[in-house]
Formats: sequence, structure tokens, C-alpha cells
Amino acid sequence: MRVILADVAGMCFGVRAALRTLDGVAHPGETTIHGELVHNEIVLTQLGARGFRMVGESQRDPLPETRDVLITAHGISQRERRRLEEAGKNLIDTTCPLVTRAHDAAQRLQAEGCFVLVIGRRGHVEVQGIIEDLTDYEVVQHPGEVRAYGKPRLGILCQTTVPESLVQSIREAVAQRNANAEVRFLDTVCQPTKDHQTALRKLLQQVQAMVVVGGMRSNNTRAMVAHCQEQGISAHHVRCAADLNPEWFEEIDVVGLTAGTSTLDESIEEVRFALERIAHDKLAPVA
Ligand code: SF4
Repeated sequence: MRVILADVAGMCFGVRAALRTLDGVAHPGETTIHGELVHNEIVLTQLGARGFRMVGESQRDPLPETRDVLITAHGISQRERRRLEEAGKNLIDTTCPLVTRAHDAAQRLQAEGCFVLVIGRRGHVEVQGIIEDLTDYEVVQHPGEVRAYGKPRLGILCQTTVPESLVQSIREAVAQRNANAEVRFLDTVCQPTKDHQTALRKLLQQVQAMVVVGGMRSNNTRAMVAHCQEQGISAHHVRCAADLNPEWFEEIDVVGLTAGTSTLDESIEEVRFALERIAHDKLAPVA
């Protein structure tokens, strides 16, 4: 069995920058990470072991106990920023600039008088940060949810990690069901996500199965798994090498390997090594 690694796979610059900022925090025990830094269980376990205080994304209502509060790469709304600052918190901001760009796009569309449609996952922390500053909006997860909004101007933007194919199908549905509306579209899918998806599409032409490494709640990892399945390629979502099952590859000659934008390099290497070992064992079965 041959193992092919995608041309682009794994951690994006936004998450790497956030982790570098954390490396520079002198007193982890006196710093609260406001939500999950990334949706990757291995990274979160490592941060916990270093002593950082962490609160779950759904438990951010009570004010953090520490003065230093780290804002994750997913960003927060201006409303939440004000609440923390007015409570005297010192914010260590690791919001990815490409998430900030999505916030700015939403504000621009609203300022232009548009009813704002945010393509993304309802309840996702990045989407939450964007909509908390909007007054006239709706989150759209798939084309079937699109309706006639009865508004003269519609403005569309995207969560940074949604697949471009989903964006396209939702845009088409919006145009179809709102034929009389003026529709503005601002493409806020981030370049690392696009690069991952382009590399994935290329790899899908060459393999019979795919292994996607990433956190179980990572939006972009799950989107890549779903894309493989839509293309008729069986995809296995694993967090680490221990999740691999050699039986998945019994009938496979070529397997692809890719990873989400919050996956550590060491996790990808570990899975690649384990896949190579499975390939080796297939060549030399036990007598
Ligand atoms: S996935 Fe994109 S938007 Fe999110 S942190 Fe990475 S580069 Fe930034």
C-alpha cells in the first residue's frame, strides 16, 4: 500500500501564531484561555498540562477569574470584548487576522443596509463572534435552509473554514429564491482553508481511501471528511495513530493523508508512520 501526503495539510499560520503567543506567556496558571484555543483534543491536553486555565466555549458567561484572558484565534464579538475590558481584564488577543476580516465584512454589509447571511455552522464560536455584533442577520448551514427573505438587499459572507462548494451552492439558492433582491457577496473563506481543499481535491484523484487527522469537533477537518465521502472515497477521521484500524486498508492499494488546520505536525507524522507500518505489514503478512 502506498501512502500519499497532501501537498498542503495541517496547521495554518493563524493557529501557529496563537500557539507562539501562548509560548510567551510567563504565568500560565494566571491566564485563562477564553474558550477552546483550537478544536483539537491533543493541543488542549498539552495546554492543560502546562497549567493554563481553560473554560469551555459554552461556559464563557461568567467572567474569567484571572486578570489575563487569552482570546483564541476564532475571535470574539466587540460586545464581548467590551464586557471583558470593562471588567478590567487584560486581553491577550490571538484572533486570526482572517477572522477579523470576516467580522469587518459582516459590519460593512450591515452598514450598507444589507440583511446579512452568514454561511457557516450555527453555534460555532467563530460564527457566534460575528453575529453577536449584528442586528439583522441569519446563519445558513446548507442550501435547503435558504428562504425568500423579503429584503431588497442581501449581503453574504462566510465562516472562514467552510468548503467553497458549499458556499457556491448556498449562493445559487439565495439568488434563485430572492430573484428581486440585490445580492452582495464577500468571500471570507480563508486562504489556508482553500489551499487545503485544493490539495484534497487533487489527492482524491489518486487514492482509494483517505485518512484525515484532526480534532473530532474541528469544523474544517469534518468538512474534508464529508467532501471525500461525497466524492465516493471512504474517509477515516482520526485524532492520532491509535485511532487507526488496519482492517480499513485491507483492500486498499493507495491511501491519502491530510489534516485539519489545527492539527499538530507531530500528529500527522505519527499517523503517517503508522500507515507506513500497516503498508509494510500488508507486504509481509505473519506466517
Ligand atoms: S483556519 Fe484560517 S481563519 Fe482560522 S485560524 Fe487558520 S488561517 Fe485563520
